[in-house]
Amino acid sequence: MDKLPKCGANYVPLTPMTFLKRASMVYSDRTSIIYENVRFTWRQTYERCCRLAFALRSLNIVKNNVVSVLAPNIPAMYEMHFAVPMAGAVLNTINTRLDAKNIATILKHSEAKVFFIDHQLVPLAREALRLLMAETSLPLVVVIDEVDRPTGVRLGALEYEELVAQGDPMYVPEEISNEWDPIALNYTSGTTSEPKGVVYSHRGAYLSTLSLILGWGMKTEPVYLWSLPMFHCNGWTFTWGVAARGGTNVCIRTTSAKEMYENIVAHNVTHMCCAPIVFNILLEAKPHERRQIKSPVEILTGGAPPPAALLERIESLGFHVVHAYGLTEATGPALVCEWQQRWDNLPAKDKAALKARQGVSILTLADADVKDPKTMESVRRDGKTMGEIVLRGSSIMKGYLKDEKATAKAFRNGWFFTGDVGVVHPDGYLEIKDRSKDVIISGGENISSVEVEGALYKHPAVLEAAVVAMPHPKWGESPCAFVTLRNSAAMGEAEIIQHCRKNLPHFMVPKKVKIMEELPKTSTGKIQKFQLRAIAKTFVIS
Ligand code: ADP
Repeated sequence: MDKLPKCGANYVPLTPMTFLKRASMVYSDRTSIIYENVRFTWRQTYERCCRLAFALRSLNIVKNNVVSVLAPNIPAMYEMHFAVPMAGAVLNTINTRLDAKNIATILKHSEAKVFFIDHQLVPLAREALRLLMAETSLPLVVVIDEVDRPTGVRLGALEYEELVAQGDPMYVPEEISNEWDPIALNYTSGTTSEPKGVVYSHRGAYLSTLSLILGWGMKTEPVYLWSLPMFHCNGWTFTWGVAARGGTNVCIRTTSAKEMYENIVAHNVTHMCCAPIVFNILLEAKPHERRQIKSPVEILTGGAPPPAALLERIESLGFHVVHAYGLTEATGPALVCEWQQRWDNLPAKDKAALKARQGVSILTLADADVKDPKTMESVRRDGKTMGEIVLRGSSIMKGYLKDEKATAKAFRNGWFFTGDVGVVHPDGYLEIKDRSKDVIISGGENISSVEVEGALYKHPAVLEAAVVAMPHPKWGESPCAFVTLRNSAAMGEAEIIQHCRKNLPHFMVPKKVKIMEELPKTSTGKIQKFQLRAIAKTFVIS
């Protein structure tokens, strides 16, 4: 064919901003946000976002400027996911569990022009700004007070609700000329290396959002509980996704068992996302905190391997879990353990084991594979041969901000190398075995710490488990387990080792088990294995 019509006149860049405008028309009077006594409708949310975007322009924010925010899951945090890009700027949500030094590093690296701070986090932000002042000029500071009962906490002259009030509800959002323009900047939590600034495009965010609401089967008008921090990959894109479905955002400040159960029951929550660690909070709730779940709540979990034993237990409470795998660089989830009808009638244990696998690529990802990083060949689909998990497609980041070297290193032949070690099963489902740095090499055999942890979680007294390599005079390395125990459980090292012997091949059984009060965690609640490795090095094995 020649003389094909040119694409051009009808080119409209893909952006999740269109979801909000549509929601304001289609679901205008439906509740968009619930937060304590505060209620907004989609029409009001759109209007408030227009006002805030206008106010940001009045503060001289221009295209591609970075606007940072340090806040929990409150309405303002949600609104900024639209208002900041509507002003043409780039949203940088900062992890509230970071310390002042890390926050100052992010503000400096991102060259943030405005910094929004939740009123409860003012002391932390003040310290970060003090550190920043010694190195560079400060961003404009805006405090976010409570919507309906201002506390009057200030840090500088500007306040969020006052800015919204001053804005123009008829503001026409900044045109997005190119769908590859940046929409968000998210710093990795640095489990294994220095935090890096990951740049998301409007296109990537749009496609990931669609993929996830389709992949999860999220129907219109869901009631979505914000149990996953919005600062984590923009809430795995559900900040934009809930608008796309005209859902209701139930905002909560903390993920305590009490707050989650109360909100689930009070608002008939249908969906929530969380890391597997939150399962323990729900499972270990005190009797007076727990509520009977009336209709099943859909949970999308990821961020760390969910042990099969934990999946089985949480589903027995009335939650239905879908398991996804992802990372900051992939705009959140990239793989999903797509459920097959033929698994429906299997025993609960087998179902949980299948669900604990990370799965297949989400709809808009071009491809996912496991490759030998040296030869770039795909590994055999035998569920045994390990290689590195690689991803390709539109939801993978544009690159790292101001770090061409790290960007070039992360991509090879168009594939993004995740740093995670996995296998492919004969049915094509991927399973993560470890982070490449966490694999234990014992007498030449690769031992997956995730597999050993899975066996430990099968013991009813084990609350949390982490397995790392420990130097061994004969085997080079051998597995060393660190566990915390359920409330009143009393158990010794010998009993745990015995349990592992029953559940694992002998070479995988930990040679040492240390029972701890608490395991060291990162700001996103992941176990800091490098700290445990340092402890394991001090153990003497003969
Ligand atoms: P960081 O890399 O700093 O921890 P991320 O939040 O991007 O920050 O973490 C992504 C990592 O989390 C993945 O590379 C992987 O190791 C782990 N991860 C995410 N989802 C899963 C999952 N479903 N199962 C196992 N590990 C997971």
